[in-house]
Amino acid sequence: MDSNVIPETSLFLAGAWRPGEGALHSVINPATGETMISYRGASDDQVDQALQAAREAVPGVRAVGSRQRGLFLRRLACAIDSVRDQLARLLVAEVGKPVAQAREEVAWARDYIDYVAEWDRRIEGELVPSDRGAEMIALMRVPVGVVGAICPWNFPLALFARKFAPAFLAGNAVVLKPSELTPLTTLQAAGLLETAAEGMPRGSFSLLLGDGRVGSHMATSRMMDMVTFTGHRDTGRVIAAAAGANLTRVSLELGGKAPVLVAADADLDIAVEATVKARHANTGQVCTCAERVFVADAVYEEFVRRYVDSVEALTIGDPNGDVDLGPLVSGRQLEKVASAIEVAEAAGAQVVSGGAGSKPLPGPPTGNWFRPAVIVNVEPAMSIMQEETFGPVTPIMACRDVEEALRLANDSVYGLSAYVFTNDYSSAFRAADGLSVGEIYINRTSGEAVQAHHSGYRQSGIGGEDGKHGLLKYTQLKTVYFRF
Ligand code: NAD
Repeated sequence: MDSNVIPETSLFLAGAWRPGEGALHSVINPATGETMISYRGASDDQVDQALQAAREAVPGVRAVGSRQRGLFLRRLACAIDSVRDQLARLLVAEVGKPVAQAREEVAWARDYIDYVAEWDRRIEGELVPSDRGAEMIALMRVPVGVVGAICPWNFPLALFARKFAPAFLAGNAVVLKPSELTPLTTLQAAGLLETAAEGMPRGSFSLLLGDGRVGSHMATSRMMDMVTFTGHRDTGRVIAAAAGANLTRVSLELGGKAPVLVAADADLDIAVEATVKARHANTGQVCTCAERVFVADAVYEEFVRRYVDSVEALTIGDPNGDVDLGPLVSGRQLEKVASAIEVAEAAGAQVVSGGAGSKPLPGPPTGNWFRPAVIVNVEPAMSIMQEETFGPVTPIMACRDVEEALRLANDSVYGLSAYVFTNDYSSAFRAADGLSVGEIYINRTSGEAVQAHHSGYRQSGIGGEDGKHGLLKYTQLKTVYFRF
């Protein structure tokens, strides 16, 4: 790849590849700081054209039938599989994630699309009895119409699959925008989709590149029936307000501050290993990452000692190699994570391992390198315990027991996920019942199943994705009274 603008491939709009006419962006390799490619995003006019084409395509997408849409998805899953190494290498280049994790993401995306395709004969309505004798009441499940999907940078291919596949299977036309930082895998996936879904009406799927201006223009458009967004909480607020002006449906999958509860009876081998993985996956940049750890007094010292040993054994370096951590995605993310630690230290927290100033850097100085940090002496009110860090920093705090840990865990505006480590049946059930979050992992690390449900409480989101419930949100009910 070179750093030239790539005009002919920057947008897939109304059934054709077009040059972008909007702002200029660059894709920067986070490990080296090199500009891999520059491109123009969509202009406001181009956003409108994509949405207009989607609106016109809606009847056609529906008329194709869900069985056929399922077949298109199966073909797309096979196409992704056939270029899985190439996609994984692109993920490494644009996100900086270690290649083994990039391969997992590609496999997950393929599996996700394949799973959604299984629903092609299963989106069912209902017949309910009428109070009138000669009448039948049908509740039909119909598509929403035009769905706009806005995605973050941390899992570009997985998020493309998570948003496009269910919206499309349910019979909607989809206009999707990846993050301006990481458009490359989505561009390749859109190319695969173009071939896999040959015969679909033009406008059934459009890919718009660009930054928040493009997303904002999508969210404010009246041509949109639903916005499905994954990203930062503050962006979610702006999108919800914009969509609210037109009363457009929104589904928001936002940030998290996942607590980890380690009971005195926990198996510490499992608790340490699973928490280290849950904190450092994708170099700490996952919405479900373990963001704060509460450990029972009785095992606190031992947990911290083992946790630090385990973190210090993690390998960092060229994400193309066999490493545990790559660089952070951008210079901005690096600054944000480093500043979160400075603020914590100024408030009295103590860094016992790693951090921004740690030397030597594991890669070229122009990359966004950060050594994982472990922090103690933290208080629940500190911003490191309240705000999403989204980087490899683990604050650990001692607490009396599971009850106190539960109270501290729920003291958060976020409510996406949580982890519990205990060998006591009652404590596990008490925590599962008492944690006010959408997703709980007991005695294991993170990783959502495609058939489950991923949703946030409070400021972690409105909506939910995956499985049956994630699919059905792309439909709406229509009631028909058949009098005969
Ligand atoms: P972000 O909110 O900065 O950007 C996400 C997308 O929104 C990008 O495509 C961006 O261009 C677009 N955007 C920015 N401003 C916009 C605006 N005003 N109107 C419309 N669109 C706009 O988020 P990010 O930094 O890319 O992603 C990291 C965040 O995403 C973290 O908070 C993480 O927790 C969250 N996340 C959540 C989930 C989940 O499932 N809950 C999954 C992955 C990431």
